[in-house]
Amino acid sequence: MDPKTASNLSFILNKPHDVTFSSKPVPTLKSSHDVLVAVNYTGICGSDVHYWEHGAIGHFVVKEPMVLGHESAGTVVEVGPAVKTLKKGDRIALEPGYPCRRCEPCLSGHYNLCPDMQFAATPPYDGTLTGFWVSPADFCYKLPDNMSLQEGALIEPLAVAVHIVRQAAVSPGQTVVVMGAGPVGLLCAAVARAFGASKVVSVDIVESKLAFAKSFYSTHTYMSQRIPAEQNAANILAEAGIDNGADVVIDASGAEPSIQTSLHVVRMGGTYVQGGMGKSDITFPIMAMCLKEVTAKGSFRYGSGDYKLAVDLVASGRIAVKKLISGIVSFDKAEEAFKKVKQGEVIKLLIAGPNEKIA
Ligand SMILES: [Zn+2]
Ligand SMILES: [Zn+2]
Repeated sequence: MDPKTASNLSFILNKPHDVTFSSKPVPTLKSSHDVLVAVNYTGICGSDVHYWEHGAIGHFVVKEPMVLGHESAGTVVEVGPAVKTLKKGDRIALEPGYPCRRCEPCLSGHYNLCPDMQFAATPPYDGTLTGFWVSPADFCYKLPDNMSLQEGALIEPLAVAVHIVRQAAVSPGQTVVVMGAGPVGLLCAAVARAFGASKVVSVDIVESKLAFAKSFYSTHTYMSQRIPAEQNAANILAEAGIDNGADVVIDASGAEPSIQTSLHVVRMGGTYVQGGMGKSDITFPIMAMCLKEVTAKGSFRYGSGDYKLAVDLVASGRIAVKKLISGIVSFDKAEEAFKKVKQGEVIKLLIAGPNEKIA
């Protein structure tokens, strides 16, 4: 694809519920280590939908028009003179956040915590729902021949799940409860199984999501009830035949009742990881955490090695991310796709790049 003649149409959020398509100049390489990527497919994430609806997530507020999208796969169309790992025509999964590489978190191997992170579709930075994208070569992960570009677009949420499960240090034979069966919750269950968990229970409030979880990687499911958190926790353990609490509980929902249940479902000395983002402040069962000496951790985006492992889990056939793709829509249907995701009719919708022909 020739960036001189191809489209660089972009899908832009002006303010909540106000989006436009506009053709932007094709970006140029900023460093000799950069590559120019033609974007083939982009998945819609809950965070994109949240910006579209509310114009802000926490302290990230959309003040200027911003291109949406960050879950992308593409094809390398130009390489900088210092790039040794990629060539024109390589198909890649795009890691969409670029840290400073110089601060203490960066140098200690935790670049996801870089205070100067430039992350796609997080204001003030534009996202990847566009024709062409410039990335440092080392944030592009070459897809093996047996992986499609559509699967490549699922690597971003899978990397989020890999980071969460690594934070939880899931090991073979463990029992894991995952609160929430949206894309990240489903992928956490899949990664936990790949890490050797013997039982993985998915918990949600939507029956169809649980049915899907059962057909994906969860060994058990539980439909959360409007009852006290302790009772939901007891039901989850009974349902899965887990005696003294789960070794690991992951909250991938961000919902207050789920977080409360999490602290009651985890065993003495177990691990709880918060991956989902909901309200900033909630009522938290801190006594349970203290008395059980729970190890509690947060998880934010992804860091060293997470994308690489995510690609490997798909390429080796251990995680069939393809099953999550509900459909692929053309670029001009981006707004309708956002509406569908908002209505919860789909698991993961991909938007084809503006230069992509779809059937
Ligand atoms: Zn995302
Ligand atoms: Zn940094």
